[in-house]
Amino acid sequence: MKTVYNFSAGPAVLPKPVLEKAKSELLNYQNSGMSVMELSHRSSLFESIIQDAEQLLRELMQIPNNYRVLFLQGGASLQFTMIPLNLAQNKKAQYINTGTWSKKAISEAKKLSNVTVEVIASSEEKNFTYIPEVTEEMIDPDAAYVHITTNNTIEGTAFTTLPKTGKVPLVADMSSNILANEYNVEDFGVIYAGAQKNIGPAGLTVVIIREDLLGLSEVPSAMLDYKIQAESHSLYNTPPTFSIYMAKLVFEWIKEQGAAAGMFKQDQEKAALLYQALERSSLFSSPVNPANRSLTNIPFITGNETLDKKFIAEATEMGLENLKGHRLVGGMRASLYNAFPIAGVHALIDFMQAFEKENGGN
Ligand SMILES: *Cc1c(COP(=O)(O)O)cnc(C)c1O
Repeated sequence: MKTVYNFSAGPAVLPKPVLEKAKSELLNYQNSGMSVMELSHRSSLFESIIQDAEQLLRELMQIPNNYRVLFLQGGASLQFTMIPLNLAQNKKAQYINTGTWSKKAISEAKKLSNVTVEVIASSEEKNFTYIPEVTEEMIDPDAAYVHITTNNTIEGTAFTTLPKTGKVPLVADMSSNILANEYNVEDFGVIYAGAQKNIGPAGLTVVIIREDLLGLSEVPSAMLDYKIQAESHSLYNTPPTFSIYMAKLVFEWIKEQGAAAGMFKQDQEKAALLYQALERSSLFSSPVNPANRSLTNIPFITGNETLDKKFIAEATEMGLENLKGHRLVGGMRASLYNAFPIAGVHALIDFMQAFEKENGGN
């Protein structure tokens, strides 16, 4: 099999040792004679899996006891509705618009007729190439929450400092940098993330929510009610059992890498290599403000669409897969999540240098 490096933004690369462990247990999980996929979600074997997954995540992110961890479905996209539905009915919710995903979060919240949505800062006028400044005066002390996207997966920007929101809970879509950048969970009211970028396979959404934010409003659906989901320990209905099992294996792997701090160090090293290569290059460049660069999603361009296309095609030939930028921004994008190996970054840089020589760089 040829070596393939998968730069996909999601679903994304998983750690090889995790895939191997899953393979070894696939047909017969802990002598049950069954696959994890075949276990009842009410069985003691599965209960240990989901409890271990939660315990590991708590350790990795140092989640305080007054926060609940939920394993839900519907992707980060369903959280765009669940957040305002649970937290902001008959109230105002404030949003910072830093990219395509923030925009979707805003547009979903606006569909709820009893939620007032206010966008307090935006970088849309410059194609989301930077993170706008947010000052304390912009925060309405009566707002139900302030919503941010910590890492903008498509545009390749990230918050380096969190906005100060005082007593107003900060709600964060962390889909593309959970367990990569290091955060203090206590700085947030709610953290949510689709699993398929940095945690495991698609189908699972992780929500970390402060207890006092549960049960604030009537929610017209048990599935969409954080309080009910918390009370039933994420087992209100059949959860995505196999995805939760895979997440547990990934959490074990991250623990071996030195938890969130260890991952952050490795990710910084990988990202620095690529950003330095972009700075040195006379052909490739980064389109975003250097002060707001993402650790995990790194877009780059040649400035010439035909050349971008050629680069992507030749890179794919070489086993450097999924480097095409998002259709909304074009160019290239390398997603260097936790499981992405540093050897793949070196392979990309070597290829970029060879391509530059052949195609008019100097
Ligand atoms: C991928 C992504 C989403 C969408 O996630 P789904 O799980 O597909 O709904 C939302 N926000 C961010 C920041 C993302 O990267």
